[in-house]
Amino acid sequence: MQTRTVTLTGWGRVAPSTAELAEPGDPVGAAALLRAADPSRGLIPRGLGRSYNDAAQSGGGTVLSTARLNRILQLDPASGLVTCEAGVSLEQLMVAGLPHGWFVPVSPGTRQVTVGGAIAADVHGKNHHVAGSFARHVRSFDLLLPGGEPRTVTSEGDPALFWATAGGMGLTGLILRATVQLRRVATSRVLVETVRTADIDETMAVLAEHDREHGYTVAWSDSLARGASLGRSVVTSGDFAGLADLLEADRRDPFAFRPGARLGVPAGFPPGLINRYTVTLANRAYYRKAPRRRSRELQEIGTFFHPLDGIRNWNRVYGPGGFRQYQYVLPFGQEAAVRRSYELVAAARAPSFVTVLKRFGEGDPGLLSFPMPGWTLALDFPARTPGLAGLLGTLDRLVVEAGGRVYLAKDSRVPADVLAQMYPGLDDFRKARAELDPHGVLASDLSRRLGL
Ligand SMILES: Cc1cc2nc3c(=O)[nH]c(=O)nc-3n(C[C@H](O)[C@H](O)[C@H](O)COP(=O)(O)OP(=O)(O)OC[C@H]3O[C@@H](n4cnc5c(N)ncnc54)[C@H](O)[C@@H]3O)c2cc1C
Repeated sequence: MQTRTVTLTGWGRVAPSTAELAEPGDPVGAAALLRAADPSRGLIPRGLGRSYNDAAQSGGGTVLSTARLNRILQLDPASGLVTCEAGVSLEQLMVAGLPHGWFVPVSPGTRQVTVGGAIAADVHGKNHHVAGSFARHVRSFDLLLPGGEPRTVTSEGDPALFWATAGGMGLTGLILRATVQLRRVATSRVLVETVRTADIDETMAVLAEHDREHGYTVAWSDSLARGASLGRSVVTSGDFAGLADLLEADRRDPFAFRPGARLGVPAGFPPGLINRYTVTLANRAYYRKAPRRRSRELQEIGTFFHPLDGIRNWNRVYGPGGFRQYQYVLPFGQEAAVRRSYELVAAARAPSFVTVLKRFGEGDPGLLSFPMPGWTLALDFPARTPGLAGLLGTLDRLVVEAGGRVYLAKDSRVPADVLAQMYPGLDDFRKARAELDPHGVLASDLSRRLGL
């Protein structure tokens, strides 16, 4: 199989590394690559590279891209069961499913992720409080084990392998294809409630109330607001609209869906434009623009679920130094620690524009699955923010003390010993890996950094 030498990063554009990139077009080619992989160099699968960090890179080794394993094999319009290759994106599933009234069961903040990447990170969306994370909706997947042999895996038939792979960041094998249960929708529009909150207490109260009433909820926070305005936010919640909710003109095409980015960020975008001054202004403007309260606004899927997909390569706005995402979950009962984290970020004047707070429901049994019942906060900072390493170290300690964890699909810097305190399933994951992959064929920059 032909490979080419490439330098890769995750979406945050930090920590580039150079590897041989292989793009097999069928399972036979993929299995041959796994069998031929050199354990001293390592091999890791890669989807669309939307993890923010070094999870889908393997410096000095091989990166197996699923770009050509991207066919939808079967979609049953009656049951909404779809079987597809692992490189199929969630956008492809939307384009294929919506005309029959089917939407993806869980969508992260971008639809440019593959089914393989969604299982490997066990991704969550705005409906986690009712629907859980992605793996819960996966009926089965075909996995190529590190030695190249195929295995069909279900959560009933082989729970250990299923739940090591869901959230296992590509380290148990290559997912070749999966069967996923889509969710029924009556239209492609969302009826949205917006509430602008004055402070962190009101933000948490509104999120809790909206979780009881709506299938999708999330809060965007002004991370730099302080004092009485600490944690002020715009909470947006929604549910798929019924046919009768649509405007007369839209009822003729109730499942209309127009993917595609409208704007692009040029390659030479000047660095330094995202800083504490510009983000203070942008946060303030975004907050003030939101209505105090608005009900039953009809939004398209892209506007509600994937606003950042509207700007191609938006990650370039942070300049060549890239940016660091930080996402934690803290168990319910740790509201004081959530408040403290907002205080720490605001006091450090660390500029995060995409600051998102949400409540998780029950977690999956995935050994390294991120969600657990509690509060999850995602932040992103330009990597060159002064004092960032100290701030994130302080947040790590707060997270460990509160019994929480950080998200492996986003982390680019947590120390290995700190991670071990966050994930009680880590030892079992390492044992499973030792059995499945005794020669250590599968390895990423992430797994080496954290000893996964
Ligand atoms: C704008 C934006 C918003 C996001 N919002 C959310 C969110 O709301 N919720 C959330 O959970 N995540 C979110 N993410 C993160 C993203 O959903 C995950 O990182 C996801 O795993 C990316 O999928 P990918 O196909 O790009 O995989 P990659 O980034 O290419 O790889 C991610 C991991 O999956 C493994 N992998 C990929 N394909 C396979 C395969 N076929 N077999 C085995 N392992 C495989 C890789 O080895 C790697 O460890 C967001 C990312 C962006 C850029």
